[in-house]
Amino acid sequence: MEKIAFFGLGNMGGPMAANLAKAGFGVAAFDLNPEALAQARQDRCVPCDTALQAAEGADIVISMLPSGEAVKGLYLGDQGLLQQLPVGTLVIDCSTISAEDASSVSSAARGLGLRAIDAPVSGGTAAAAAGTLCFMCGGDQDAMDAARKVLQAMGGKIFHAGAAGAGQVAKICNNLLLAIHMTGTAEALQLGVDKGLDPRVLSDIMQESSGSNWSLSNYNPYPGVMDSVPSANGYAGGFSVALMLKDLGLAMDAASTSASSTPMGALAKNLYQLHGACADNQKLDFSSIQNMFRRPAGTLT
Ligand code: NAD
Repeated sequence: MEKIAFFGLGNMGGPMAANLAKAGFGVAAFDLNPEALAQARQDRCVPCDTALQAAEGADIVISMLPSGEAVKGLYLGDQGLLQQLPVGTLVIDCSTISAEDASSVSSAARGLGLRAIDAPVSGGTAAAAAGTLCFMCGGDQDAMDAARKVLQAMGGKIFHAGAAGAGQVAKICNNLLLAIHMTGTAEALQLGVDKGLDPRVLSDIMQESSGSNWSLSNYNPYPGVMDSVPSANGYAGGFSVALMLKDLGLAMDAASTSASSTPMGALAKNLYQLHGACADNQKLDFSSIQNMFRRPAGTLT
């Protein structure tokens, strides 16, 4: 089995690395956070003190980092990791970053004789833990072919969207839509509750009706409707408001370069900005947007 170096062991990367170890790959792991490294050890990965140490002898390098800056900081420049990797190493970046940043990492990698794909994911932390993530990839066919086996150990569906950066374009389109249906779902649920409906009954009805969508059926934002989702747990963990705002920013930037109209996405971004203006909300899961629609106790009905 190939040896993998894994960078970024957060809400997503931690369980993804654990699934690779479970599948029999040797996984050397690095994260800036010592708690994440301690968890990686429990998940049968080898925690490393530096990025370079993790990359030593690796056939495949995978990153799951919070931003384009973090990804470029890891890979690019004279001291960047790409310079240290042997020719032929496969680099898979699963972070959600701009298509431009993904393309610059990919072309730097190719210039050094490495293979690279952008492979952002959908499915959230539950799919990361279950190994059922959906991968949307961009890059050359030979790099895609080489990546398939390792992606299968972490995911259920693997799509090749096109050349380098195309996976990131697919990802921001998806998350633009996700933000829109999450905010819409929260709005509709609150209207029903304000009118005296039980949110569980209303959710059952809408799941069988034309309003059905992933936020309603798989990630319900109203507390008490579903178990094992962030709304059942004070909106802890999951996909943070800060990361959703990052993705909506990427989507708006992308739209401006193609002069595309994205009024619904702009409104969703605005709502998340309002919600995230309270610093405590930034770390909460993005389904906490429900709180923006909930009336504080004692207000008029
Ligand atoms: P997170 O904040 O939980 O984890 C990020 C991890 O990266 C942290 O542990 C942090 O310490 C580490 N890190 C940061 N810089 C680093 C560096 N230079 N080297 C090594 N480690 C470093 O974030 P997450 O929720 O796991 O998301 C990671 C990426 O996945 C983001 O790009 C996000 O947009 C995307 N994503 C998240 C979800 C989700 O549901 N959380 C779903 C799909 C995609």
